[in-house]
Amino acid sequence: MTTPQHAVVLGASWAGMLAAHVLARHARSVTIVERDVLPDRPAQRRGLPQARHVHVLWSGGARIVEELLPGAIDRVLAAGARRVAFHEDVVTLMSHGWQHRFPARQYVIMGGRPLLDWAVREQVLASDRIRLRERAEAVSLTGDARRVAGVEVRSVGDGAREVLDADLVVDATGRGSGLRRWLSGLGVPPLEEDVVDAGIAYSTREFVAPPGATSGFPAVNVAADHRVRVPGRFGVVFPQEGGRWMVTLSCTRGGGLPTREEDFLPYARSLRDPLVADLIAPAEPITPVFVSHIGANRRLYPERLDRWPDGLLVLGDSLAAFNPIHGHGMSAAARAAAVLDRRLAADGLGPGGAHAAQREISEAVDDPWIMAASKDLEYVNCRNRSTDPRLNDTSGVTRQFMDLIAAKSMCSRAVSDVVTDVISMSSPQAELGSSDFLALMQRDEAVPELTGPPLSREELAIVNLRPRSAALR
Ligand SMILES: Cc1cc2nc3c(=O)[nH]c(=O)nc-3n(C[C@H](O)[C@H](O)[C@H](O)COP(=O)(O)OP(=O)(O)OC[C@H]3O[C@@H](n4cnc5c(N)ncnc54)[C@H](O)[C@@H]3O)c2cc1C
Repeated sequence: MTTPQHAVVLGASWAGMLAAHVLARHARSVTIVERDVLPDRPAQRRGLPQARHVHVLWSGGARIVEELLPGAIDRVLAAGARRVAFHEDVVTLMSHGWQHRFPARQYVIMGGRPLLDWAVREQVLASDRIRLRERAEAVSLTGDARRVAGVEVRSVGDGAREVLDADLVVDATGRGSGLRRWLSGLGVPPLEEDVVDAGIAYSTREFVAPPGATSGFPAVNVAADHRVRVPGRFGVVFPQEGGRWMVTLSCTRGGGLPTREEDFLPYARSLRDPLVADLIAPAEPITPVFVSHIGANRRLYPERLDRWPDGLLVLGDSLAAFNPIHGHGMSAAARAAAVLDRRLAADGLGPGGAHAAQREISEAVDDPWIMAASKDLEYVNCRNRSTDPRLNDTSGVTRQFMDLIAAKSMCSRAVSDVVTDVISMSSPQAELGSSDFLALMQRDEAVPELTGPPLSREELAIVNLRPRSAALR
């Protein structure tokens, strides 16, 4: 087999849908196996608990989605999500101070996760090459250590088991994936795994935004300062479709996450700046508080095995999942789908081809992995169970360099542009080590530091807040 005739994708969420879409461009038929029933409109579902919390899609990922599924992002925007110019439309208190709102270089899509998934799903499932099997749970792989031949699925309804044969199986079942167990059932040696866990937890509530605020007021992000050796506390107010604000308060291990409604506002007040609390204090809450403790960085290394079974790939959160604060999971999955597409278009997946393709997919998630995991190591109480040498450098040099970059990018447009390209997953992280960037860092072209949130009188009027005089834009 070079190009698969029949592929089975496990998991029908973000990564699974994008993978199924690219497979259907090359294979004759694709079956998607999903434990849940997928809603026919943007709605929450059981298998996607994180959809209750803020999800941003960085421009690096959004461009891939636009390329693979023309019109999908436009439909998300038409439904009321916002394309937020970065940093122009974002007020951010970074670890080192307030970020200047430099003219936009990149953007983020801010909208509900159910909306994003729905727009992608509708378009993907329109293909007559793709068949969706809902309420079906993958329980094991069939074949042997040399070649995966299919998957055994169990009906969620009556427990009936069935084997689906396939010449390619793609695992996109997310953080809870049973892949390691399934591989061991085939006699494949254990996959290596790295975990860097800062104990991230999220608490989210939605509010009615003041009239005009979801389009005329910037997104707000108040981050912790990792240099203060206490658990980090964070808060964001992001515009959503339907005139809503989604407010997520989060913390690293020991940060005392608010889990009750009465604790939400006091916690927002305890952040490094009161802006989040000032915005939500008069706003009407429209949901209860939802809590998530899913936030460790976790990565599998299939590429390190001497031999990887033909007929098998893994991508999305099953392969590598990141601290959600960095907002990279969906963009990383989009990158993986784009790699798969290129690979299938170029030379298919002949003998040994799955291992080569998996290696490329794993490379595509390395940038978000190292960005998130190395940043998280800066927080107190972060647990490091990784063998990645970059995450076990005790010299402190990388940390000092990243601090320098953070301090400079707040006030230097040129530095901020390069950093924004990297964090939006539009440029490789290696840019930050290039000689051009090092030269840029040395040039002194920074504007004075801000002393408060950069908001104009017009923006403050929209949310009924009084100016803090020194900080006016
Ligand atoms: C609180 C939080 C906030 C986040 N915020 C952002 C953000 O701002 N930006 C961003 O890019 N990313 C964010 N992420 C990460 C993002 O949610 C994930 O990267 C993304 O959902 C990964 O998609 P996936 O398809 O790999 O896995 P998932 O979305 O987890 O989907 C897995 C799918 O597999 C199904 N499934 C599971 N097991 C089986 C089985 N055995 N058989 C059949 N089906 C199965 C599930 O029902 C589900 O549909 C956030 C994550 C969290 C936890």
